[in-house]
Amino acid sequence: MHTVMKFGGTSVGDGARIRHVARLIKAHVDAGHRTVVVTSAIGKTTDMLLDTAKKASTEGDPDVVREFIAKLRRTHHEAVRGALNVTLDTPSATEILEEIDSRLEEVEKALIGICYLGELTTRSLDFISSFGERLAAPILSGTLRSMDIDSDPFSGDEAGIVTTNDYGNARPLERTYSQVRERLGDLIEKSVPVVSGFIARCEDDTVTTLGRGGSDFTASIIGAAIGVDEIWLWKDVPGIMTADPGVVPMARVLPEISYIEAMEMSYFGAKVLHPRAIEPAIRHGIPVRVKNTFQPESEGTLVVEREEQVKDVVKAVSVINDVALINISGAGMMGKIGVAARIFTALAEAGVNIIMISQGSSEANISLIVNEADLDSAIRAIETDFKNGVIKEITSDKEISVIALVGAGMAGVPGVAGRTFNALGRAHINVIMISQGSSQHNISFVVAKDQSRDAVRTLHREFELDKIKI
Ligand code: ASP
Ligand code: MG
Repeated sequence: MHTVMKFGGTSVGDGARIRHVARLIKAHVDAGHRTVVVTSAIGKTTDMLLDTAKKASTEGDPDVVREFIAKLRRTHHEAVRGALNVTLDTPSATEILEEIDSRLEEVEKALIGICYLGELTTRSLDFISSFGERLAAPILSGTLRSMDIDSDPFSGDEAGIVTTNDYGNARPLERTYSQVRERLGDLIEKSVPVVSGFIARCEDDTVTTLGRGGSDFTASIIGAAIGVDEIWLWKDVPGIMTADPGVVPMARVLPEISYIEAMEMSYFGAKVLHPRAIEPAIRHGIPVRVKNTFQPESEGTLVVEREEQVKDVVKAVSVINDVALINISGAGMMGKIGVAARIFTALAEAGVNIIMISQGSSEANISLIVNEADLDSAIRAIETDFKNGVIKEITSDKEISVIALVGAGMAGVPGVAGRTFNALGRAHINVIMISQGSSQHNISFVVAKDQSRDAVRTLHREFELDKIKI
C-alpha cells in the first residue's frame, strides 16, 4: 500500500514522541508499505513564532528575540537527543544540530530585523512561521536514518508545492500536482521523504503558508499528486467522534464517514479536519484516515467518498460556542426587496462571517449567528448601513450555542427533524432558532448556552449514537 502519513504538532511534541512516531513509520515500511511523511512543527512552535514576531514589531526588543531563540534551540536540541537516543556529540546528531542552528540563525536575523523595522507584513509572518516545520523535518528524517531507513527532509517547495501569493492562506497552483509527482513519485519506492507541512513558496520564490493547521492540507496535496491508496492523518485524538467526549462520555469513534459528513462536522465545531485540507483528496477520491499516535493499533476513522445510507441517519452531534445571535426587526422590512442583501453586504464588508441565518415568513425579522468576537463590528456595520428606519431594532444575545446534527443519510429521511425537536421538548430545552441546510446533511439550531450540554446529550441518546454501527 502507498500512503502519505502526516503527524501533528502534539504527535511530534518532543524527542520521545518523535522517536515513537519514527517507530510507527518503520513498522509500516517494514510491513512492505511505501510512504511519504509530512510533519508539523514541534508542539506549539508555530504559535510561539507568531507571538514573538508580533512582539518584535510592537515592542522592538531584540533581547526578547534572543531569549526566544535560545529557548527554541534548547527544545529542538533536546528533541534531537531524545529522538535519536544518543549524546549530542554523536555524528548522527551533530549533522542535524548544524542544520537546526543555521535555521535558527536565519529566523533570529529576521526577527531582529522586524524589531528595528517595527513592521510586520503578512509576507514576513509567513517567512517567520515557516521555521517550525523547517526545524522539525530534519529531526524526524534524521531519526528515521538512525533506524536504517533511507530518508531525506524536504521543505514544501522542494517537494514541488508552488502556491498563490495569498500569504497566510496560500493555495497550490495546478502545476504543483505534476511537480510533486515528478519529485516524490519514484523516490518513495526506495526512500521515505519527510516533508515540512504547512509551508510552500509562491512563483516569485517567497515563502508562503497554507493557513493554520495546514499540514493536513500538505498531506492531502501530496497524496493526491502521487495517487496514494490512503492519506493518514496522525493526531492526538482517537478519530472523528459522534460527539465531543468532554460533553458526552459515551461518545464513540466513527469507523467510517463520507467526505461530505466530515466537512459538515468541521463547519459545526468538530475541529478534526479542515474542509480545505481534504479538498485535494476528495477531488482524487483518495480515502483519508484519522489516526491517533497514542493508540496506533486502533483503526481511527476512515473518510471516504461513498455515502452509506444506513439506518442510523444521524452520525454526530456537535456544538459551537463563542457565537452570538443578532436579531434584526422592523415592520418596514416586510416585503421590502434587498434588505437581506444589504445586511449581508454590510457584514461582508466588515469582514464578518455569518454562521447561520433564518428569516421568519412574516419577513419582519431576520436572525443571524456570528462569531462572538465579531458581534460588535457586525452590529456597527448593520446600524451604519440602515439609518433610514427600515430596521427598528437590533438585539443580540451572547449566551447561546449552535448545535448541529450531522449525517449524510438525513437527505430524504422523514422524521429526523420531528424526532430532534420532540426529544428536546421532552427534555425542556427551548429552541431559539432553527435552520436546515438545503444540502440536508445537517440540521442546526440555537439553544441557550447553559442548555447546550443537555441538548447534545439528549440527542446523542435519542439517536443512539453510542450504539452506532456503520
Ligand atoms: N504548524 C502549523 C500550525 O500550527 C501547521 C500544522 O500544525 O498543521 O498551524
Ligand atoms: Mg501545529
